[in-house]
Formats: sequence, C-alpha cells, structure tokens
Amino acid sequence: MSVNLNYLNKQITKNWQQFLRHFEVEEYKENSKMIAGVCPVHGGDNPTAFNWYVHKGGGWKCYTHACEKHFYSTPLGLVRGLLSRQKHDWNHEEDNSSSLGEAIYFTLSFLKINNKKISSQPKNNDKKNFALHEKQHKEKNMIKKIERSFIRQSLQIPADYYLKRGYSAKILDKFDVGLCCNSQKPMYNRVVVPIYEDSGQYAIGFSGRSIFEKCNLCNSYHNPKGACPSEKNGKTAKWIHSYGFKTQNNLYNIWNAADEIYQTKTAILVEGPGDVWRLAEADIHNSLAILGTNFGKQQRILLDGLGAYSLLIIMDGDVNGVGRKAAQRIKKQCEKAYEITIVEMDDHKDVGDLTVEQINKKIKPLLKIEEKKYR
Ligand SMILES: [Zn+2]
Ligand SMILES: [Zn+2]
Repeated sequence: MSVNLNYLNKQITKNWQQFLRHFEVEEYKENSKMIAGVCPVHGGDNPTAFNWYVHKGGGWKCYTHACEKHFYSTPLGLVRGLLSRQKHDWNHEEDNSSSLGEAIYFTLSFLKINNKKISSQPKNNDKKNFALHEKQHKEKNMIKKIERSFIRQSLQIPADYYLKRGYSAKILDKFDVGLCCNSQKPMYNRVVVPIYEDSGQYAIGFSGRSIFEKCNLCNSYHNPKGACPSEKNGKTAKWIHSYGFKTQNNLYNIWNAADEIYQTKTAILVEGPGDVWRLAEADIHNSLAILGTNFGKQQRILLDGLGAYSLLIIMDGDVNGVGRKAAQRIKKQCEKAYEITIVEMDDHKDVGDLTVEQINKKIKPLLKIEEKKYR
C-alpha cells in the first residue's frame, strides 16, 4: 500500500473528531465550513482564535498567534502542532517541537494505516510544481542518455588526481571517476564525474575537474606548460559541465542514496561529489550533493520524493562564510517539511577534507540521533 502526505492530510480531515478527542479538545463551535475554538496548539483564551476548515479542504489557522505559520497550515501540520503542545508544552516559536516525521508516524498508528511507502510527492493540483515537472521532463528527454558501461570504457578509472587527494581507488571506481585522455573531447585533461539518473544505469550529465591547479597569472586552470589563454573562456575553468546539464536540477548520488534515505528517513545534503565519496568511504550512503551552494526548486522536488523526514546540512566551511550562508538558506527553504540539523565545518574544510575517523566522530553520532527518532 502506498501512502502519500496528501492522503494522510485527507484522512486526518475525515477523522477530525477522533483527533480532537485524543488531544482533549472538547469545546468548539461547528458550522458548515469549519470549527472554531481556543487554539489548542499554543493555548490562549480567545474562544474563536482557532479555525479548522474540517468541511472545506482541511486547512487551519490560529488568529492570535499564527501557529500555522510555524507548523504549516495542513492537517499534518496541525497534528504536529498538537503533538508539540502535548509532548513539549509548546507555546512559542523557540520551544522544542515535534518533527513532521513524528506527526506522520503518529497519524499512521492512530488511524491504523499500514505504511509501506510514504511518499511526499508534490500534489497534482499544485500547478506550479506540475508545470515545472513537465518542463523538466521535456528537458530530460532531450538530453542524450549514455550507458554506464560505455562511460567506464572511455575513462581512465580511478583518476590519479583524486588518488593523490586521498580518495581510495575503490570509491573512485564505485563512482566511475576517471581521466578523459581523448584530446577530441571537451572533457580532455579533466577528471570526469558522471551524474547518473535514479537507476544508476545511464548518465544524464558530466562534471569535469581540470587536472591543473590555478595559474597565478590568469587565475584559470590551464596546462602550466602552455601559455595563458588569450581571453577568458569557459574551457579553462576549474569545473565544467557537459552540454545541457543543469546542476540545479539534479542531485548527485541519488542513484545510490534513494534506498538508504527511504530506510533511514534521513538525507544528508553536501556541496560536491568529493563530500559524497568521503562519506561513502565512512560507510554513509544517504548523502546527496547539490553541486554548489544553491538548492534549486527541482532539487527540492527530487528530495521530497525520497521520503526523508530529517535533513543534515553540511556545507563547506570556507572562510568567507559562503557555505554557512548556504546552509541557513536551505534551512529556511526546508524547515517546514523537514527536521533540520546544520553541521558546522571548521574554516577551510569541507567533508571531503575529513578523514574517515573524523567522520565517525563528528557525523555518525548525529545520524544515530535521527535514526532513533524513526525506528
Ligand atoms: Zn495558536
Ligand atoms: Zn595562466
């Protein structure tokens, strides 16, 4: 049986009286659209502050405290608010609250719904998302898919460049990271990182890192034996992407991470492929790289389809604070639907710079905390 959040919202609305009874909400007035009473989420004493449209859509609103802004105005958001009140005596934004995951679990067991798969796919009636889906779908079909076996034949795997940076041959082989030695190809003299679709069988794009370091004279990444490029062009950039590939529409490692995220209900968001590899070396397989510091709408849709309740955000610890700001931005974008933990990195470091031992010490305990919530 497949359960999605939309379905749960409908079930809560249908069984509204049962839910109110459980949370000891006894005094309210009812009309053809809604019920009105004291807000059961923050407490208070205004007898008409809380409106729940039990006969019209299921949304709710708290006119004194705007509690729905904190928990989301869906029926599940209300259940989350009621649980927070019950468990943590929630009354104010800064108080501890229950997670969306807890609300889902509570609802499933309260209504005795047999849960095999909870998918938080966007609702069909959400026109904006739907339009975006359509557009992506078309674009996706226009991109030529390349078979994995062909990619492996075309590259020198494992890439020496990353071996020298401390990655194991095993992990580079697992992720098909290799050097492009074909001078006819745009990725020539670059380490190619293939990005696969969810099945892992076909690449939908490639990122390529120059094997040269930054030139002190022109700041680009060309072969130091040759002259600096006469004008600035993309060809000597540190990273380039294959034609038509849009980083903001894809999540790197989704093909490995999807199952693990579904099992653990937790996803880790990192910046780049190197972070994903290092975590995988530490036997952590639920990480996704957002390929930069911007978390796009399409990436959010992809993430929402994976069934996570908790997010660990680990952006780079760069000195100018770009990573830190990105983490805050993603938190804002996702905090109504996910339980968020931001993992701060030290200056100059990203997850890819850590050793496996450091990851075991810093990241694994945080994952254990999340794991316990959903067991
Ligand atoms: Zn309220
Ligand atoms: Zn130069």
